[in-house]
Amino acid sequence: MTALFPHCILRIALDTPLNAVFDYRWHCEADARPQVGQLALVPFGSREVTGLIVEVLDETDVPEAKLKDALAVRSQLSPLSPQWLALAGFAADYYQRPLGEVALPGLPKNLRVSTTVALDRAIKKLAKNEAPHDATPANPPPLNAQQQEAADAIGGATGFTPTLLYGVTGSGKTEVYLQACDQVLTREPHAQILILVPEINLTPQLEGNIRARFPGVMLATLHSSLSEGERMLHWLAAHQGRARIVLGTRLAILASLPNLKLIVIDEEHDPSYKQQEGLRYSARDLAVWRAWQLQIPIVLGSATPSLESWHHAQSGRYRKLELRERAVKNAVLPQVKLLDMERDKPKDGLTAQLVAALKLRMERGEQSLLFLNRRGYAPVICCESCGWISECTRCTSFMVLHRPEHRLRCHHCSLELRIPRHCPTCGNVDLQPLGRGTQRVEEGLQALFPEARVLRIDADSTRKKGSAQEAFDTVHRGEVDILIGTQMVAKGHDFKKLTLVGILNPDTALFSQDYRASERLFAQLMQVAGRAGRAGRTENGSESEVLIQTRYPQHPLYGAVVNHDYDHFATALLEEREQAALPPYLFQALLRAEARELATALEFLTIARDCLAHPNITINDPIPMTMTRVHNVDRAQLLIESPSRPQLQAFLKQWMDMLRSMKTSRVKWSLEVDPLDI
Ligand code: ADP
Ligand code: ZN
Ligand code: ZN
Repeated sequence: MTALFPHCILRIALDTPLNAVFDYRWHCEADARPQVGQLALVPFGSREVTGLIVEVLDETDVPEAKLKDALAVRSQLSPLSPQWLALAGFAADYYQRPLGEVALPGLPKNLRVSTTVALDRAIKKLAKNEAPHDATPANPPPLNAQQQEAADAIGGATGFTPTLLYGVTGSGKTEVYLQACDQVLTREPHAQILILVPEINLTPQLEGNIRARFPGVMLATLHSSLSEGERMLHWLAAHQGRARIVLGTRLAILASLPNLKLIVIDEEHDPSYKQQEGLRYSARDLAVWRAWQLQIPIVLGSATPSLESWHHAQSGRYRKLELRERAVKNAVLPQVKLLDMERDKPKDGLTAQLVAALKLRMERGEQSLLFLNRRGYAPVICCESCGWISECTRCTSFMVLHRPEHRLRCHHCSLELRIPRHCPTCGNVDLQPLGRGTQRVEEGLQALFPEARVLRIDADSTRKKGSAQEAFDTVHRGEVDILIGTQMVAKGHDFKKLTLVGILNPDTALFSQDYRASERLFAQLMQVAGRAGRAGRTENGSESEVLIQTRYPQHPLYGAVVNHDYDHFATALLEEREQAALPPYLFQALLRAEARELATALEFLTIARDCLAHPNITINDPIPMTMTRVHNVDRAQLLIESPSRPQLQAFLKQWMDMLRSMKTSRVKWSLEVDPLDI
């Protein structure tokens, strides 16, 4: 029998939480063996699933009777490269997840589920899509000296050259990336370049720039709002080496790119590069590893680098390139002023000085942006007679008033209620909104400036697919006088007509428990301030302004924002972190546990804490998470720390094996390496 049907063993990684690979039998001639990196369809339990072939063997320890046959091998798809497998393998090891959970979910669904026939048809469609481009490329602006130096340094770099491009807001970092890309694409006929942006809303702006500049170059985009069909086409174009530029959000870091020669991470400080669920990876950190693995240059760009990257630049591990001035002729950084809310008491959330500044912009026909990082109408409603407040019944949080939608919504679970007509406790009909969110500010502005074209951009106003882009286009076309928005509007956008930025309520972050809060707040304020005055002086020669409403005008963080002084602020923060032994001088991992009862979660974490000791590892006590209950589940955490990354890694590996072997039916747990929120 065996002679008639020669077979081999396929060792296959599957997308399951079990940290194992599985062996299957595959009938094939010796000269037609499947290859490592190919996908195969196999039976798993009662299902048929697609897995990744990680080894092809002659024999296995699995007893003959238990060995199942693989059903199909996707031979139309060329194998994922050894480099790609090594990347997935590194991510799996580093973040302590099974290989299949890292490698498979990133692949287009259609590759994983569709039949052979469907895959063929897809591939044909892609070939059709590739029309010849004969448009003439847009002319690049002449670079200033610092930009030129940076573009040449990046474009001409060889080997693993990590570069921090530290350029103030509006200094023309995009132009530097594009011209560096141009050098690489011209020099190396098959080179591929990967460009990551932190947010999906930033892709159209950059995509437009890239297409205009490189009309003959195939561009693939990878982000979460592509349809499955599109995702498949773009992924394949990258995998087959035909897409020379791949632009995407964090998930694109796991794209298959056989000829990758340069990686660009724009706004590298942005927390969105960290995936916050499932495989909790940092796309920026994986990008640096990928560049090291391939020995290619990588550029990390920001006006407010993360302290991790700043630390590497200070210590010489990264090369630092600076752009100190704004690129557009006459454009200077905006004047930042602090408005003392104790002296100038705000009405409807706006101080008299801010209202006057808005009025001035209206008269001049210039745009203003108001930044408030809180969506909804009011964070809570309350009853003044009995003290009832709108708490979520399932979470440790409040139900947010969404007045235009006539709803109370919990932003942490899906709970939604009609606004109660009277107090559920005492029957009082006069329930009051407390505090303000973007919707309430919008309402106030409209009353104050009835003639103004006010536009709100936040997660609520942009729920419909394409509506965010439509909203940003409206601003770019100049059809908006006052824009009000959350962090969605704060980053990256190049609004040319904007001369005033008002920041409404940043104080709460000053006193947060989170040691990263000041780094984040500072970056956020610098970024949103950086939206003002990007196109240079206006016709009447006025300068752009940033007005920050605060009760703490003496706070050093605001002082640093007023002076646009990232350098000193970052250096001081780093010193603090070093003294307090915090990242980046310390390495952390966080074990989280969820259960119906808090005690169960804490009990599990206590067992976890005590089950393995290690000399250079500190295991802290289990504590409830700040927001303890979400959707009727209680959550607790255990922080693990070490001054040595390799020792932490070694500990985690051993520890995870122990935890996986425990019976933990009443708790759901997960590990996060390099956690951002603790
Ligand atoms: P950053 O990403 O550094 O904040 P951008 O790349 O968005 O800045 O550039 C800001 C503005 O400057 C853009 O409108 C861009 O077109 C313009 N710009 C960039 N480089 C030059 C240059 N060398 N000459 C003129 N304008 C430039
Ligand atoms: Zn009441
Ligand atoms: Zn809730």
